[in-house]
Parts: sequence; structure tokens; C-alpha cells
Amino acid sequence: MSVINSVIDKVERMDPDQHEFHQAVTEVMETLEATVQRHPEFVKAGIYERIVEPERSMIFRVPWVDDKQRVQVNRGFRIQFNNAIGPFKGGLRFHPSVNLSIIKFLGFEQIFKNSLTTLPMGGAKGGSDFDPKGKTDGEIMRFCQAFMRELFRHIGPECDVPAGDIGVGAREIGFLYGYYKKIKNEHTGVLTGKGLEYGGSLIRPEATGYGTVYFAAEMLATRGMDFKDKRVAVSGAGNVAQFAIEKVNQMGGRVISICDSSATVIDEQGIDDDKCCYIQELKNVRRGRVSEYSDKYQTVCFEDKNVWDVIREQGIKVDIALPCATQNEIDEANAEALVKNGCVCVAEGANMPSSPEAVHVFHNNKILYGPGKAANAGGVATSGLEMSQNSSKLSWSREKVDKRLLNIMKGIHKSCLEAAEAYGMPGDYVAGANIAGFVKVARAMLAYGVV
Ligand code: NDP
Repeated sequence: MSVINSVIDKVERMDPDQHEFHQAVTEVMETLEATVQRHPEFVKAGIYERIVEPERSMIFRVPWVDDKQRVQVNRGFRIQFNNAIGPFKGGLRFHPSVNLSIIKFLGFEQIFKNSLTTLPMGGAKGGSDFDPKGKTDGEIMRFCQAFMRELFRHIGPECDVPAGDIGVGAREIGFLYGYYKKIKNEHTGVLTGKGLEYGGSLIRPEATGYGTVYFAAEMLATRGMDFKDKRVAVSGAGNVAQFAIEKVNQMGGRVISICDSSATVIDEQGIDDDKCCYIQELKNVRRGRVSEYSDKYQTVCFEDKNVWDVIREQGIKVDIALPCATQNEIDEANAEALVKNGCVCVAEGANMPSSPEAVHVFHNNKILYGPGKAANAGGVATSGLEMSQNSSKLSWSREKVDKRLLNIMKGIHKSCLEAAEAYGMPGDYVAGANIAGFVKVARAMLAYGVV
């Protein structure tokens, strides 16, 4: 049995219930077969076996008191997966679906994504099954403080630097960082995504969405295409979706969809900049539902359906798809419908939004398909730039950070294509991203000996 199959088998045997983690490991490992032939030294040093095992995993109790003075208990996680090339780095997710499998899949993906950025960052992820929906600001603050009451002992600016993810935006980062600063009595760059007044970087909020569109534009350019006048389907209505929409508008495309966990809105007129500002206010300030957008702009709204189901059921024409909500949102039938409806490019703003079957459909139909670990790496790359600004006690201009982001996304696109070509899978962005990300980390692990 090849080392790749035995690693996949072992992961499934040891943690049989961790389906999302198996999915992420299988997707990466299957594309690393070519590295096994080329690098016998990696096999000898057990790199493949070691890279799927986190450096350490923390699971902890998060007790807090709600507005009715009732004690609530949630579960907290921090998985420090790999710090071969830099301090652990990766977001925190607050969502009721969070469990060990989801945090491990996200932490594992983060290793390769962070390596691709070329910045010195290892891979980690964390979060909680806490549901921020319907909670007051006071409850969110008390939860964040309770979460940090344990997390603080595991993180630090040279050790592990968390950021946001689903359910963790500017408000939550403020509460988390404020409490860390209070109990540690130090003002350091221990979280990224901070407010501008206290060490944040310009363009960090925009970076994941902007970066995804920059990556898609690079892919389109390989076939002589661009965003101009293209119909673009975006899912989600959160941080990544909002700024993907803004950048698509700047590039002349027309975004026709958004969704949240309760409904999908199709706006044939296009979500222009004014409507995008409305979504930001609706989601970031009033914490409302996308159905309110539909009421305001008189558009169609499909309750309890995601964007891709609606596109399939309604036969909606789409040129470019930017999934920006959550994992496994595009299944095989949805992928087939996208291809049938004219889609030529899929760039993943979310992490692992396409099921393995959906990815096969994209490959078989030669769709330009940019996997999340490459396409959405702009967020963590700009977090890396925030860390550089914090350690040098400088703030860079908006233009400087945006230019660095654009160049990083171009560089990631180039590395993916070069690695895919060098390892015999030309044009395969999945193989290219996995191999380019892996080889750098593997070489560092090799240098350290068995640790
Ligand atoms: P947000 O919490 O800001 O937004 C998530 C959006 O997706 C919300 O509108 C949410 O709806 C919607 N959503 C969540 N689950 C579902 C579901 N099951 N069906 C339909 N809609 C759903 O998160 P982000 O925008 O930060 O993150 C989105 C994705 O991007 C995630 O996969 C994340 O891991 C990834 N990502 C984020 C980065 C970042 O910098 N923030 C960096 C790299 C990747 P509702 O409002 O109802 O909750």
C-alpha cells in the first residue's frame, strides 16, 4: 500500500467520526502522490504521517452568564496544527455546527494556505459551538471574555495568533483582544483583524473577498477573459461575500445573488455599491436577515435554500461562481447545474465549499476551479501583513496593503500553476496549491529532524 493510502486509512481508523477532516486529508493526500516519487526523503522522515497529526489540540469549557442570569456552557477549541514555517495562525469560528472535525479540517487546510502566501505562518484553527445569532452585545462580550479566559494561556505574538472566521468579526475580535490585553497586561499583536485604532491593518476586512476576486481574475486571464459584464453568483452575506461583491463591481461584473442560513436572494438587476452598503449595514450592524434585502429592493427570495440549489432549480445563467458561505455548500447536482448554466470559473471564498463530487464535475468539464486554500488566502496573507505592521509599530497606507495583497494573490496563482506543471498535472489548481504549500512545509519539517 502506498504511504498516501496508508495515511488516509489511519486517519479514518483513528477518528472515524471526523468526516470533514477525512475529506480535507483525502483531498490533499491524493494530490501528493507525485511528491512521494520525487521526494523519498519525505517518506523516510515520516512527513506524510506527521503532517496529518496536530502538534497539539486544546478542548475547553467556556462557562458564561446570559442576560437572564442563567449559566451557559459552551465548548471551546484551539487546534495548533503545524508551526514548521512560522507561529501558528488561523481564525476562530463561532457557530453551532463547530466540532473537533470541523476545526481539524480548517486547521489542516490552513497549513497549506499559509505556506502558499510565502509569509512565515504555521497552521491553526479554533472556535466554539456558541451561536452568536440572537445574542445581545452584552452576551457576546461575556462569551468572548469567557473564551479568552482559557485561550490566553495558549496564544502569543510569537506562538499563536488567532483571527476571525464565521461568527467572529470586528465586534468579537474587539472583545477578545480587550480581555487578552487586560489579563496579560500587554499590548501585542496577538490577534489579527483588530480595529484600526488599536493595531489593525487597513484592507484586512476586505482582504479575503478582494483576494478571491483577484485570484479569479488571474484564472480568467489564462483564457483571455475577465469580469466585465459577467454574471456572478456569490453565496453568503458575511465578511467574505460583502467584499467579494464590492470588488466584482469594481471590475465591471454583475453580482446576482446572496444568501444567509435562512434564505437566498436573486437580484437580476445586480447588487450595486449602494445595495452592497445596505447588506453591510444589515449584516454587520443590525444583524438582520437577507429576506429584508428582498423586501427593500423587491427581489425574489427563496426561504431555506442556498444559492446553488436555487440556481439549479430555477435554471439561472451564471458565468462565474464565488461560494463565500460555508463548507460543502455545492454538491454534485449543483456543480452539474452550474456547468450546464454556462459557468466557466469557480473561485472559493469559503473553505471547502465544494464537495469532492462537485470538484470532479468541475475538473471533468475543464472549469477554471480555484480551491479555497489558494483563492481565499488573501485574508490570512493580510493578517500576516498586520503582524508585520504590529511588530515594526508602523501602519501602512490602504494603497500599499492592497498592492501587496494583489501581488500575493498573483504570486499564489503563479505558484499553483508552476507546481502543477512541475509535478505533471498542468492547469490543475488543486494539485498545484496542495503541492506548492506542502513542499515548503515538508522541507522545514525535514530540517528539524524528528520533533
Ligand atoms: P461570516 O460569519 O461573516 O459570514 C458567513 C455567511 O455565510 C453568513 O451570511 C451566514 O449566514 C452564511 N452561512 C453560514 N452557514 C451557512 C449555511 N449553512 N447556508 C447558507 N449560508 C450560510 O463569515 P465569513 O464571511 O468570515 O466566512 C465565510 C467563509 O469564508 C467560511 O468558510 C470561512 O471559513 C471562509 N474564510 C473566511 C476568512 C475571513 O477572513 N473571514 C478567510 C478565509 C476563509 P447567517 O448570517 O445566517 O449566519
